Formats: sequence, structure tokens, C-alpha cells
Amino acid sequence: MSTDIRETHLAADRRESRGTAIVVGASLSGLMTGLTLSRAGLHVTVLERSGPSPQSGAALGLVGVDLDGESRLLDGSNRRAPSLIAIAAGGSSAMHSWSSVHARLRIAAEADPRVELRHHTVVADVGQDADAAWVTTSDGDTLRADVVVGADGHRSVVRRGVAPHKPDATFAGYVLWLGIAQESDLPAAHRLGRHQEGPDMMSGGDDYFVGYPLLGKDGSSAVGSRQLGFAWFDATRNDLFREKGRIVGDVVRRSLRNDDIPERTYRELEAQAQKLWPQPWRSAVLDRIGRRRLIGTPIAEYVPDTIANGRLALVGNAAHVQTPMTGQGFDQSVQDAEALAEALAAGLPGSTMEECLRSYQMTRLHSARDLVRSGQQFSRSFSGEAA
Ligand SMILES: Cc1cc2nc3c(=O)[nH]c(=O)nc-3n(C[C@H](O)[C@H](O)[C@H](O)COP(=O)(O)OP(=O)(O)OC[C@H]3O[C@@H](n4cnc5c(N)ncnc54)[C@H](O)[C@@H]3O)c2cc1C
Repeated sequence: MSTDIRETHLAADRRESRGTAIVVGASLSGLMTGLTLSRAGLHVTVLERSGPSPQSGAALGLVGVDLDGESRLLDGSNRRAPSLIAIAAGGSSAMHSWSSVHARLRIAAEADPRVELRHHTVVADVGQDADAAWVTTSDGDTLRADVVVGADGHRSVVRRGVAPHKPDATFAGYVLWLGIAQESDLPAAHRLGRHQEGPDMMSGGDDYFVGYPLLGKDGSSAVGSRQLGFAWFDATRNDLFREKGRIVGDVVRRSLRNDDIPERTYRELEAQAQKLWPQPWRSAVLDRIGRRRLIGTPIAEYVPDTIANGRLALVGNAAHVQTPMTGQGFDQSVQDAEALAEALAAGLPGSTMEECLRSYQMTRLHSARDLVRSGQQFSRSFSGEAA
């Protein structure tokens, strides 16, 4: 069965639509791009292979951001809408768990009448001609729109259409062990300082560690109710990820989660954590190891030389993959979503889609490339030192 989104949407609301967009991926970049393209006047269909509430052990620092910031674009009722950062932060300047930021953006996208979210939809291929761009799903459906945006992460399918000469992100040479412990599960003597907001960073042996205090699942900052997130940088277990097929050649496939991680590795990590990391982070790591609730993520990098091609464009980790050590991935995704929408709002209906996307590329490509390259200096030195 073939569905023509373009015809469906234009027929639904011909007066105010500036066209149609398909966004592949409903993680942070995809949701933010859905929102900004809607504000630019497009009807947006966001396609996501997984369900609506994915989990991640990562966290995002939204400390000191403008909680009342407004978008430069107007919403469908010609009102100034909250900025993406304000939606993501949900009224609280703090370190936030990735999952809580994702939930707030998803709720905002679901409430937008010009954005349709479709979960459990896997995009297998993309294409374009002079009149339209399209995606083909793994079910064999073809969906067409005026523009297709890849927000499909470091293993992007859309990137194959945008940069066929350079389709893959490559392994950066190390993995991160990620977890989030509940403060209430830790011994009272090993809890966070009452006023700690920012992360703790430290090295131990060949490894590196970032521990970050997070608000409780209920948003509480009360002592005993918070969460302790951590990212443990490890360049000594790459072989395990290769053996398990999570890194193939130079390409990162996926993470090891919970029971995927061998017992032997849990025991080694436990012994290392006892030696390397001070409290309260040691207790947080041991708690996650004890529950067999840990995520091992191989880190990828991608230096872009193209982020738009004809009617196809890339945002977020599909466009540029920088080491998490830069702490800039989310901020870069915000800038991509805003720049793309502003290029379309400024150009349409006078300019062609290709001209608008070229303008987007001019705005974003160089700074994104420079950031990835600066992060590579850390990656090379960290993976080289540990090897
Ligand atoms: C371990 C880790 C720690 C990080 N820490 C920080 C930090 O501290 N600060 C910071 O700013 N940034 C950090 N980042 C980066 C930041 O999280 C990302 O840059 C940002 O969230 C943007 O990701 P994304 O939405 O572009 O991609 P992703 O989150 O990878 O999302 C891609 C989405 O596309 C979907 N998808 C993929 N392929 C298909 C397909 N074929 N069909 C349909 N759907 C598909 C996936 O299911 C997924 O939902 C970190 C990243 C990692 C991996």
C-alpha cells in the first residue's frame, strides 16, 4: 500500500501550509525539528522505529538556561511559542535525565496539530526527484513529502541519500558505561551534597568518569529523592563489544544493556569501581552493577562534509556525531532544528526547497564540523593512552 502524505496534508489545510515534511527519528532532534518545522508552516510527519518512551542512561546539562525563552518563529496561532530549550527544561534549571527531556518534547509535539508522530515505523530507504522526496518503510509503504529530514542518529539511513560517499559514522575507540541510581537506594552516608548541581569529573587509572546529580523522577531536588547519573569512559573493553557484534569493523552497531553484559565483565567493573571512584559515585556505580542495570555504549564520531542534498537534509547526530565529552550534542541539535526551520520560513514559498536547504547547510555545516574535530582530539588521546 502506498500513502501520499503530501496530497493528504495539502488537501487537509491548503490555506496556510508551506508544504510537507517527513522527519525520520523521534528522539530529541526529531521531536525538536518537528516542532520548529511546524512553526515554519509545514505539516510534519515524524516516523520512529521504536515506541514513544525510549530509555537512556544519559543526561543533559540545562543549568543556567533561559527558562522563559521564546522561539523566533511564531506558532500556528501567530503567537510566540516557548523556545526548544524552555520546553526541554520544563521550568527547572538543572541536569536532567535524557528520558525526562524526551518526554517533555514528545508531549509538546503530540499537542501540535501540525505534527503527526508515528511510532514503530522503520525507514528502510530514502529517495528524491525534482518534485518530491520520499521514504520507504520496512513494511514496503512509500511516503512522499516536499522535504525529508534525517533525525535518525549516528547510524542514519537518510545520510545514505545526503552523503552517499561517506555514509557511516566510525568508532571513536572507547565505550561509556552509563547508569542512573536512585539516591534513596544508596546508604545515607553516601549521598550527594545538599546543594550540588553541576557534574563531578575525574580520572582513575586509564579511565575517566563524569558523575551528575539529577532531579528525582518526580522532579524533586530534596535530599534522598534525587538521582545520580554517571558516564564511565573505558577504552580497554573494545574487544568485548566486537565479540558481541556491537562494533563491526569500524562501525558502531548498538549498545550492550543489562543482561547482555557478561557476568565476568560485571565482576571486573565492580572491582575497578571499588578502587577508582570516590563516594557517592562508587555507591551509585555499585548499585547499578548489583542490579545488573548498566548500559555499555560504544562511542561513534562523524565529521560531516554535507548536511543537505536536494530535498534531503540531516539534523542532530545524523548530521554530525561528536564525543559526549564535548557536552554539546543537545545544543547542536537545537541549533540544527532552529536553523533548518528558519531557512525554510525565510525562503518559502519564493525559493526552491533546494535553495532553502543550501542556506541551512551554509548556516550549520562549518561550526558542526569544527566541534566534531575538536572532540576528536580528546578521543584520540583517551583511546590512545588506554590502548
Ligand atoms: C552516551 C551519550 C551521552 C551523551 N551526553 C550528552 C551530554 O551530556 N550533553 C549533550 O548535549 N549531549 C549529549 N549526548 C548527545 C545527545 O544526546 C545527542 O546529540 C542528542 O540527543 C541528539 O540525538 P539525536 O536525536 O540526533 O539522535 P538519537 O538520539 O540517536 O535518535 C535517533 C532516533 O532515530 C530513530 N531511528 C534511527 N533509525 C531509524 C529508522 N531507520 N527509522 C525510524 N527511526 C529511526 C532511533 O530509534 C532514535 O529514536 C550524549 C550522547 C550519548 C550517546
